[in-house]
Amino acid sequence: MHPLAEKMLRKSALPSIYCPGCGHGTVLNSFLRAVDKLGVYDNLALVGGIGCSGWTPVFIKADTIHALHGRAVAVATGLKLAQPDRKVVVFCGDGDCVAIGGNHFIHAARRNIDLTVVMLNNNIYGMTGGQVAPTTPYQARTQTSPRGNPEQPFDACELARAAGATYIARWTTAQPAQMAKSMREAMEHKGFAFVEVVVQCPTQAGRYMYGTGSAVDLYEMLKTNSVRLSKAGELGAEELAGKIVVGRLLQRDDRPEFTEGVYGLCQAKGV
Ligand code: SF4
Ligand code: MG
Repeated sequence: MHPLAEKMLRKSALPSIYCPGCGHGTVLNSFLRAVDKLGVYDNLALVGGIGCSGWTPVFIKADTIHALHGRAVAVATGLKLAQPDRKVVVFCGDGDCVAIGGNHFIHAARRNIDLTVVMLNNNIYGMTGGQVAPTTPYQARTQTSPRGNPEQPFDACELARAAGATYIARWTTAQPAQMAKSMREAMEHKGFAFVEVVVQCPTQAGRYMYGTGSAVDLYEMLKTNSVRLSKAGELGAEELAGKIVVGRLLQRDDRPEFTEGVYGLCQAKGV
């Protein structure tokens, strides 16, 4: 059992529904450790989307909303405005966050609202059977692109940056300690914080994209393909092809935070 299970895990939701070897459990582990170290457990408010990733907050004994597909960030926006002192954290998948929820995602980043969004990116729609997602690599095989994906994928971190996010980090499940540190930084940051975690999905991405259902092989692939941001600058486009650039990609404090702005305006107008 996890060392923080007694304190933070909802026993009625266990054992987890994740497939054996799924990377989502690593993200949950890093998050629990980040929350414990930061001492914000009693003040957490969690929002999950739909999909395997949306289950992440369900396992945690905290105030939790399981939102409609793609609407997690919109629900979290309302929650933060109603209860600005809460630490609001959203867990969503890549499909949930940048496909059906893409509009909410870019506008939350534009507003720089003080949310932490953790996107568990398995590059595919996992729960619904392995369909192509907006993060599926070009020419990758999925259930709905058996001859290869003809579309170019989103880089969700670049999308967040362009839309106005003020904290961005990316890791894979092969860097759990660094992931936990970024989650702490994201929760401490005042503004829209985005942490992308590339996770192994042996059941769907493994089967269709990589021809292996072995979580160990997929984990090794993530580890081998990860390149630290500091090193990435030294590499050319060819060397970077297929690599995952990891690290803290952005931290800035020059944009006003949305919730404070709303409350400030209300105060100024005597509302
Ligand atoms: Fe994890 Fe993939 Fe199974 Fe979903 S389908 S629980 S992402 S391994
Ligand atoms: Mg997905």
